[in-house]
Amino acid sequence: MREQLQALYNFEDLTLERLNGYDNINYLLTTGDKRYIFKTYTYEEELLALIEAENDALLFLQKTPQSTYPRPIPCQDRSYVKVVTFDGKPTIIRLLTYLEGSFLGDLPLTPDIAASLGTLLAKTDLLLKPYVNYTIKARTLVWDIQQLDLSKPYLAEIPDPTDRSLVEYFFQQYHENVLPVLPLLPKSIIHNDANEWNVLVNETGVCGLIDFGDLAHTPHINGVAIALTYLCYDKDEPLPWVPHLLKAYHEVSPLEEQELSVLYYLIAARLCISVCQSAHAKNVNPENTYTSISERSAWKMLRYWISVNPVHARNYFFTAVGYRSPEVVPIQEKVLRRHRVISPLISLSYATPIPMERAAFQYMYDSEGNTFLDAYNNIPHVGHGHPRVVAAGQRQMAKLNTNTRYVYDLLAEYAERLLAKFPKALNKVYFVNSGSAASDLAIRLALAHTGHKQLMVMEHGYHGNTQLGIDISDYKFSNKKGQGQKEYILKAPLPDTYRGEFRTNDGSAGANYARQAIRLMEESEYPVAAFITEPIVGCGGQVPLAKEYLKHLYPAIRKQGGICISDEVQTGFGRVGDHFWGYEAQEVIPDLVILGKPMGNGHPMGAVVTTTEIAESFGKGVEFFSSFGGNPVSCAIGLSVLDVIEEENLQENARQVGNHYQSLLRELQTEFPVLSDVRGSGLFLGVEVVKPNSMEPDPALAAFIKNELRNNHILISTDGPYDSVLKSKPPLCFTKQNAERVVEEIGKALRGYSKF
Ligand code: PMP
Repeated sequence: MREQLQALYNFEDLTLERLNGYDNINYLLTTGDKRYIFKTYTYEEELLALIEAENDALLFLQKTPQSTYPRPIPCQDRSYVKVVTFDGKPTIIRLLTYLEGSFLGDLPLTPDIAASLGTLLAKTDLLLKPYVNYTIKARTLVWDIQQLDLSKPYLAEIPDPTDRSLVEYFFQQYHENVLPVLPLLPKSIIHNDANEWNVLVNETGVCGLIDFGDLAHTPHINGVAIALTYLCYDKDEPLPWVPHLLKAYHEVSPLEEQELSVLYYLIAARLCISVCQSAHAKNVNPENTYTSISERSAWKMLRYWISVNPVHARNYFFTAVGYRSPEVVPIQEKVLRRHRVISPLISLSYATPIPMERAAFQYMYDSEGNTFLDAYNNIPHVGHGHPRVVAAGQRQMAKLNTNTRYVYDLLAEYAERLLAKFPKALNKVYFVNSGSAASDLAIRLALAHTGHKQLMVMEHGYHGNTQLGIDISDYKFSNKKGQGQKEYILKAPLPDTYRGEFRTNDGSAGANYARQAIRLMEESEYPVAAFITEPIVGCGGQVPLAKEYLKHLYPAIRKQGGICISDEVQTGFGRVGDHFWGYEAQEVIPDLVILGKPMGNGHPMGAVVTTTEIAESFGKGVEFFSSFGGNPVSCAIGLSVLDVIEEENLQENARQVGNHYQSLLRELQTEFPVLSDVRGSGLFLGVEVVKPNSMEPDPALAAFIKNELRNNHILISTDGPYDSVLKSKPPLCFTKQNAERVVEEIGKALRGYSKF
C-alpha cells in the first residue's frame, strides 16, 4: 500500500499508522514534517458517489480562508477520490489535511468550550447554507434525525421491554410534535455529526470540525440537537450545559422559536436512533464494544430526559437565547374559569391545584414546567401515555369503532384474553365504560339471579356514582351529607386488624369479623342477593381484609342463596403484586367480579365477569346493551394493556417495588412512630398517620405531608374515614428509585413539621 501511495501522491517517503474508525479504515499518513489523514473504504458504487459529494462539500468550505475543516488533497492526476486495488480488493481512497487539536471527548467540558462549539456550528451552517449537492440531498441516512423512522425496525431488537417502551414513547412524541412542523424548519446541508470525537479543541476553544461522513440536507436544528446530545449525555446534570451552546449558536445564526420548541423531542429522537442502532449492531456483532460504550450513555440520558418536562425544556431553551417563554395563565384564573361551568362538587386535589399538561409513564408534567413523580394515580396502570396503548387506540380508531350489535373479532379476542386471567368458573363477561356501570350491572345480575332484594355491603366501601352505586357505598351514603342507609342494605363491619375490634391477623380476626357479618344476615328478615366488597378497602383507608375473612364469609352468603362480588376496580390487573386479582389473597373465588380503572389505562372501560349460571339467569330478562361497552377501540386498548402487563412483567415489578417501598416506609416508621401502620400489597399502599403516642388519627399531619410532597413535585393522596391515611398507588412502571425518593420526601416533610 505504501508504494502505491507514494506513486499516487508523489510522496518521497511515508509512514502509515492505523486509527480508530467507525465503519471505514483511516490512517495517519506522515511524510517529512507533514501529516495527513488517509481514508479508505470498501468500494460500493453508491458510497463512491457519497464520498465524492463529501469531498465536494469540503472543497466548498475551503473557499473561505480558515483551517477549521479538513482540506482534500488531490492525487498526481488531480483527482481527489480514487478507486484503487488494495490487497486485491477495490478500495475507495482519499487524503485530507490533518487538523491540529485535542478531541473534545478527551477534555473536561467547560462552558467556554460548549459556547465555542455553538459558534463553530453556527458558522459552519452559515457557510454551507448556499451549498447545493443533489447526492447529499437525495441521501437517506439513519443518523439524520428527520429519518428517525429508518430506525424503527430495530426497536424490536432492544432486549428489555421497559426500555423499548421508553424509546417507543419518544418515537410517538416525535410523530406528534415534530413531524407536523418539520417542513417549516430552516433546512440546508449541515455537518450533522458534531459528536465529541469529531470536534477539535485548542487553547482558544473549539478549533476544528472533522468527519463529514454524515452530511445531510436536514433542518439546522437537527445538527444543534446532535451536538447537544453528545455534549450532555454523560453528564449527571445535562440540561445546564445546553444554554452555553445554544446562546453562542444563536448569536451567529439566530434560531427561531419553532426550532427551539421541538428541540426537546429532537434530542430524544437522536438518543432513540443511537439505542436502536446499537441494539441492532449488537445483534449483528455481539463483540462490537464501540457501540455498547456510547449506548450506556444514551440510555442514561434517555432515562433522565423522560423526567424533564418538555415545557420546562422549551422555556429553558427560549431563555438561553433571550426569547420570552409563553405566558402561563395563573392557576387561580384557570380555576375560576372552570368553576363558572363546572360544579365545585367536582373537587380539586391539593391546597394549590395543579394545571396538568402532559404525562409519560410515572411522570406528569404541568403547564408551568414542573415534573411530578406520580405515586398516586392507579388508572394509568401501565404508565401514562404508554406508547403501545396509545398506538392501539389510534390504530383502531382510524379503522373501525362501532358497537356490539355487529360482529368484530376484537370483542371475542379481548373477552377470551381477559377471561383467561380468571378461574374456569368465571367465563362470561359484560363490557361497560366505568367501574360505576360495572357495579350497577353487577347488582342487577345478582338481583336477577337470586330473586332476593337485600344486599350486604362493606363498611366504608365505595363502588360507584350511579344511584345504585351510592346505595351500596357506605362511604357515600353514610357521609354526613349523604342519603343514609337504605332499608335493603346490610353493612358488614370493616375487618380491619389495625383499628377494628379483632387485631390478630392470623386468620382468627378474619373468622371473627366474618362471624359478625354472618350474624347480621341471620338477624335479618330477608336473605341477601349479594355481598360486595373490595379485597383492600380503599376508602376505608387502604385496609386489606383480615386474613381468611372471605374464606369464612363466602360459604355463608352462598348458603342463603346469595352471590359473592369482588370489586377489583382498584386491586385488579396485578397491582397487588402477589396476585393478579385481589381476591386471590383470600383464597376464594367470587361469583362475580367488577373491573374498571386500569383496564383501559385511562380509556373509559369497565366490565363484569361472572359464571354461566348467573349470565343465563340475567339472559332471561330484557336485552342488555351498552353503547360504548366492548367497542372495538376499547377492546384494542384493553388487549394492549394486557400485553404490556405481561411483556413488562408489571405484576412482578409491583411486587418487588412494593416490598421495597413498604420496607423503606417501615424504616421511616421507626424514626416517626406517628406513621403508625404501613399496609397494603404490591403497589397498593396505605400509611396511617396518628397523633404522637396514641391511635388518634391525625388528618392535619397527613394533609401536611401530602401538600409538602406536592410542593416537592411528588403526587400522593390521603384517604380513609378520617382522611388520615396516606395512599400511594402509582403506575406499575414505578421503580425502586422512585419509591426511595417518595419515602425520603415523606421523611423530610416529617422533620420539617413544627407541630409535634
Ligand atoms: N369501585 C371502586 C372500588 C372504585 O374505587 C371506583 C372508583 N373510585 C368505582 C368502583 C367506580 O368506578 P368509576 O369511577 O370508573 O365509575
